[in-house]
Amino acid sequence: MSLTISIIREITPNEKRVALVPESVKKLTDKGFKIYIERGAGESASYPDSYYKESGAEVLEGPGEVLSRSQIVLKVQPPAPEEINAISPDSFVIGFLQHYKYPERVKMMAERKINAFAMELIPRITRAQSIDALSSQAAVAGYKAAIIAANLSSRFFPMLTTAAGTIRPSRVLVIGAGVAGLQAIATCRRLGAVVEAYDVRKAAKEEIQSLGARFLESPVVAEGAGGYARELTQEEKNAQHTFMADNIAKSDIVITTAQVPGRKAPVIVTADMVEKMRPSSIIVDIAAENGGNCELTKPGESVEHRGVLIYGPLNLPSTLPTHASEMYSKNLVNFLNLLTKDGKALDVDFNDEILQKSCITYKGETKI
Ligand code: NAD
Repeated sequence: MSLTISIIREITPNEKRVALVPESVKKLTDKGFKIYIERGAGESASYPDSYYKESGAEVLEGPGEVLSRSQIVLKVQPPAPEEINAISPDSFVIGFLQHYKYPERVKMMAERKINAFAMELIPRITRAQSIDALSSQAAVAGYKAAIIAANLSSRFFPMLTTAAGTIRPSRVLVIGAGVAGLQAIATCRRLGAVVEAYDVRKAAKEEIQSLGARFLESPVVAEGAGGYARELTQEEKNAQHTFMADNIAKSDIVITTAQVPGRKAPVIVTADMVEKMRPSSIIVDIAAENGGNCELTKPGESVEHRGVLIYGPLNLPSTLPTHASEMYSKNLVNFLNLLTKDGKALDVDFNDEILQKSCITYKGETKI
């Protein structure tokens, strides 16, 4: 018997992505999976039902019909309570499950004996790179942050030499050079801006420089476990404040991406720093989802403070849904390769670090 996979329309407000794109459906049906998809599930990401049918999926009317038939449910956002109730016991659910935000849904899934795996908990190890959805979606966010900054700015990014004179390029500062920050740097560079970047991890220096940006040497180094940053001490925060203030004041655009795992995003850009920026400067704070790196950020909103615009966008990957879905869908297909064998038996090998660390409920038990 081949395994069945369900894709339903994401109902979380402003979520335009879809978990599987038609190209991935084709790959999975070729392997022997049977795919059911809710009518219109891919529409907001520009994948019409006809593409799914051509790729071998069966399009069904509503979420209930799709969910009741399936052994594996692929999601972007965590399933809502009514969706969890429609999923058959012993099924698998894979997606960004946000267990810290929705503990009651985790409990519901365990009670219904749904086996749940969270894409955000996949360890950032080399073997898991092709499954690493945090990275694929962070790359989308970093790119989009640069485009938004260019769009909001009243200045050119590149240097222009015209008959009307020479225009100096915009000066961009990227704070936090992880996956999103590096993509923001690369995109701003392609647009012609002069880019500087800063991170508390030493390893970021070489990566920043390889993209043609200047690394700001800071007195504060804060490497944490697993390649992440750690939270700064109060003394380090004070040193960072002094060091950042001048650099921020000189920038036309500041893009902030700094995160510390399991914590609220660190506040790095304070109100007094914003007040030293030139009017018409822009801050795009993509850590807004997690509180923001700027003291004045209001998640999901634009705030103007003494001529400086501070924008804290939410769910940036969803604003580029076609490619974000394509990347996420590939991550899911690669995850299914670990979880299943030849499109058939579900074979959860908990000796595998990737499966063990990403599992949040299994056979009625909560694993986190
Ligand atoms: P993240 O989203 O947790 O944080 C973004 C960046 O903010 C990080 O570079 C972090 O160092 C920086 N930061 C935190 N506090 C800061 C502060 N006070 N000031 C300035 N910068 C600050 O990070 P991420 O993008 O998920 O990546 C984190 C690490 O994981 C990186 O080392 C990356 O290379 C690594 N990684 C490895 C793999 C893999 O091997 N499979 C995949 C992805 C990422």
